[in-house]
Amino acid sequence: MNAATGMARVARAQDWYSSVQHADGITQIGETHIHVFYRCNIWHVRGRDRSLLFDSGLGVVSLSEQFPWLQATPLLAVASHSHFDHIGCHHEFPHRACHCAEAHILAQPTRDATVANRFAKLAMFERLPPEGFDEDRYCVQPAPATQLLAQDDIIDLGDRHFQVLHVPGHSPGSLALWEAATGTLLAGDAVYDGELVDDLYHSQHDEYIDTMRRLRELPVRVVHAGHYPSFGADRYRALIDDYLRGWRAPGCPLDAPTPANAAGAAPKPA
Ligand SMILES: [Zn+2]
Ligand SMILES: [Zn+2]
Repeated sequence: MNAATGMARVARAQDWYSSVQHADGITQIGETHIHVFYRCNIWHVRGRDRSLLFDSGLGVVSLSEQFPWLQATPLLAVASHSHFDHIGCHHEFPHRACHCAEAHILAQPTRDATVANRFAKLAMFERLPPEGFDEDRYCVQPAPATQLLAQDDIIDLGDRHFQVLHVPGHSPGSLALWEAATGTLLAGDAVYDGELVDDLYHSQHDEYIDTMRRLRELPVRVVHAGHYPSFGADRYRALIDDYLRGWRAPGCPLDAPTPANAAGAAPKPA
C-alpha cells in the first residue's frame, strides 16, 4: 500500500491499455488505469497505404510493444498538441508530425512546456504503472517532428483523407483532423465533452473563440475527441455554444455553472 496515495496495486503492462474499434473503422486506445479526467484518447486509423495515429498517451508503458500491429503498416504519428498526456509515446514511431508552433516542445519536452509540472501527479492514477511514477521527475521523451503540418494540409492514407485544421486556443499549435467524406472530426483538446481548458501558460482565449466559430460551421457527424467519449453533431454544437457563451472556460470571467460542471470541482484534462 502506498500510504501517500492509498493506491495498493500496480498495473501490469499488458493491462495498461484498452482498445475499442468504432463502427467507422477508427480504433480508440485508452490508458485504463488513469482517472477519466486525465485519460487521453489515442486514435488509430488504418488506411490502405499507411495508417494514422493521433496522440500517444502518457508514455509510461510502451504503446508499440503492447500493440505490435501499430508497426504493421507505415504509420504517421500526429500530435494534436504538445501536452504530456498526448505525446508520451511519440518517440516510438519514426514518422512524427505536429504544428510548427509546438515543434520545439516535441523536440525538447520540458516539464513546464508540456504542463507536466502542473498536472502529472500521482493522483492521476487508479493503479500505478509497472515501473512506478515519480511525479517530481516524470518527463516525456524528445520526439522531434519529422514533418510539420499546417492548415489545409491533407494526410493521405490511400483510401481515407484527413484535412489538417489548425485550431489554436487550448494551445498555440493545436490540431484537429477532418475527414469530410465521413463527417468525422478528430478534435484533440479543442472540443471534448467536458470542461474545456483555456488558462494554460500558452493558451490563447481570443484565438480559441475564433477557432470555435470556425469549427461550428463543420458538418460533423461524429467527433472523436482528446478526452471523454465520442459524440455527435448536436452535442458538438452545444459544447461549442456553451464555450462561446463563457460556460466552458475556466479562465473566463463569465464562467457560470452548467449541468456539466455544476457537480463540482472536477480536475481538468491537460
Ligand atoms: Zn489533454
Ligand atoms: Zn492539452
